[in-house]
Amino acid sequence: MRILGIEGTAWAASAAVFETDDPDALRSETGRAPDPAADHVFIESDPYQPDSGGIHPRESAEHMGNAIPEVVETALAHAAARHDGDGPVVDGVAFSRGPGLGPCLRIVGTAARSVAQTLDVPLLGVNHMVAHLEIGRYQSGFDSPVCLNASGANAHLLGYHNGRYRVLGETMDTGVGNALDKFTRHVGWTHPGGPKVEKAAEDGDYVELPYVVKGMDFSFSGIMSAAKDEADAGTPVPDICAGLQETVFAMLAEVAERALSLTGTDELVLGGGVGQNARLREMLAEMCDQRGAEFYAPDPRFLRDNAGMIAALGARMLAAGDTLAVEESTVDPNFRPDQVAVTWRGADES
Ligand code: ATP
Repeated sequence: MRILGIEGTAWAASAAVFETDDPDALRSETGRAPDPAADHVFIESDPYQPDSGGIHPRESAEHMGNAIPEVVETALAHAAARHDGDGPVVDGVAFSRGPGLGPCLRIVGTAARSVAQTLDVPLLGVNHMVAHLEIGRYQSGFDSPVCLNASGANAHLLGYHNGRYRVLGETMDTGVGNALDKFTRHVGWTHPGGPKVEKAAEDGDYVELPYVVKGMDFSFSGIMSAAKDEADAGTPVPDICAGLQETVFAMLAEVAERALSLTGTDELVLGGGVGQNARLREMLAEMCDQRGAEFYAPDPRFLRDNAGMIAALGARMLAAGDTLAVEESTVDPNFRPDQVAVTWRGADES
């Protein structure tokens, strides 16, 4: 089975081909491939980089309009090169249906529909946040992990129960990456700010900032205001970056630990672009180690927005017969993970 995946929820347009000789394995509990990183042809365009400020939806959509045809064409050429000549070059087209920026999602949806219709193959509408979780589950071989999604626009804990991925805890305001990006914009750094916070924190001394966890939820806006105030008051920016990392990531680790404890699960996977941060991974690994849980963080290219995770989940959905009719394939900028009926896991799992 060979699936084309198309991703473009915000700023990174990419296309990937997921291929497996053993589609039945996709229906197994874990469905782990022997070498999961090797069975992707992975094509990624340069991400959109705003000249100043944050992501502008119109400019981002313009970038998608230019980049998506190019990455899709390249991915299909790779698929064609691996094709034996019978039937269509791919067996299905998976696309990010949401959540994300509406103007970007619409371009991705249009591209996916047109390729699927041209090749006469099924369309697979993938929830981007569930794909972040599933790529970690697939690559780790974990059975039923809790997932911490720490991305630009989101921050939440997901756990599987009764046929759906339930949101166990989430941000009450901004996404975690967007919060870091807002601070770095304030100090005059270009987007994306997260990697710059990580670099600057290496030379910083911890500064105390507000720590806001309420039950299973967290809030970042007060911390960002306090961080901006510190910068305006002349506190060295590397010190604030060190304080930001320790505070924000400790909040994420606390709620992740509580999610493991409440669900009785001993497997944690990480998803989302902020997961590329070594300090966050270190804190989560330490927390898991202390409670005897296993921790898995995918390779950075599968943490940030990427079409590989879309194609891989699309393959599982196709194996489960979970296809999407073109006339019902509108995108959904607010597509929540718990809206997705998880068709591709064993029926006996709770
Ligand atoms: P979503 O997946 O919720 O739609 P998105 O498309 O904005 O969000 P991702 O590609 O998952 O996001 O992540 C991008 C975010 O990751 C940006 O906010 C960026 O600053 C942050 N980020 C990237 N690298 C690092 C790092 N090393 N440390 C901290 N944050 C990082």
